Amino acid sequence: MGDGAFSNVYKAIDLTTGKRVAVKVVRKYELTSSQRANILKEVQIMRGTNHPSIVKLISFSESTEHYFLVLELMEGGELFHQIVKLTYFSENLARHVILQVANGIRYLHEERGVVHRDIKPENLLFDRIPIIPSKSPIHRQYDEEKEDEGDFIPGVGGGGIGRVKIADFGLSKVVWNEETMTPCGTVGYTAPEIVKDERYSKSVDMWALGCVLYTLLCGFPPFYDESINVLTEKVARGYYTFLSPWWDDISASAKDLITHLLCVDPAQRYTIDEFLAHPWCNAAPAPPPPPT
Ligand code: ADP
Ligand code: MG
Repeated sequence: MGDGAFSNVYKAIDLTTGKRVAVKVVRKYELTSSQRANILKEVQIMRGTNHPSIVKLISFSESTEHYFLVLELMEGGELFHQIVKLTYFSENLARHVILQVANGIRYLHEERGVVHRDIKPENLLFDRIPIIPSKSPIHRQYDEEKEDEGDFIPGVGGGGIGRVKIADFGLSKVVWNEETMTPCGTVGYTAPEIVKDERYSKSVDMWALGCVLYTLLCGFPPFYDESINVLTEKVARGYYTFLSPWWDDISASAKDLITHLLCVDPAQRYTIDEFLAHPWCNAAPAPPPPPT
């Protein structure tokens, strides 16, 4: 289903339950000891999570050469492919997708003390193959047909695509003690740069969420350049624009929200609660156009 630098993901059947699963097979022998430790950390973090917007780890085992992560199968594949296929999402559909991701992030940040650190369309997976019509009158018609779409966030349009879940905890990190909601370790002895780091570390997911939302709405990422040096400079300065004509018809509210996420100063950047409280996230889907 997908290949990474050290892993391959396969579709498989769990012979004990007959259920279809995904198996992430990691080639142990290609990893350094710290990379191995990271896989074990990924497993540890996934074991402690239980949320409809987070891909579930069913079991973990290892052989001398491989690690095996048996995961909930996400039949629909990557959000990345859907963006490529569709070019861009309507605001209602984008809201439907991003709210699921944001609820997963809220759970990670506030209930588990986990920062994901690799939120991107390749790591956001659909649980089933989404039926997403192209943005057209069909799209609006589709927004009305909510009866049999099953699992959608009430009050949010663009159903029929099932659930979107966060995958790939390979770079994730625990930053807060879950019971006391304080940074891990003995704070009294922790250096200021670490305390500061911990305070802002969740904000990396918020920046990434802003990049995903931007990309969903227009079909291209906020920061891009063929030269890695130029790209790095653009990101460092937070240099992006709402490029015309692609952004002309997108609401001021959506742009306002993105502005608060793609904000260079992490202290000023929206937290997940501020994101979820923004009017754009709470807007009812636009009513369908009158029949012609
Ligand atoms: P990596 O660390 O190599 O990026 P990922 O966990 O992101 O590993 O998996 C790589 C790719 O495999 C994903 O981008 C996705 O396409 C696919 N994949 C991962 N987990 C699943 C899953 N549970 N169900 C279906 N596909 C998956
Ligand atoms: Mg990945």
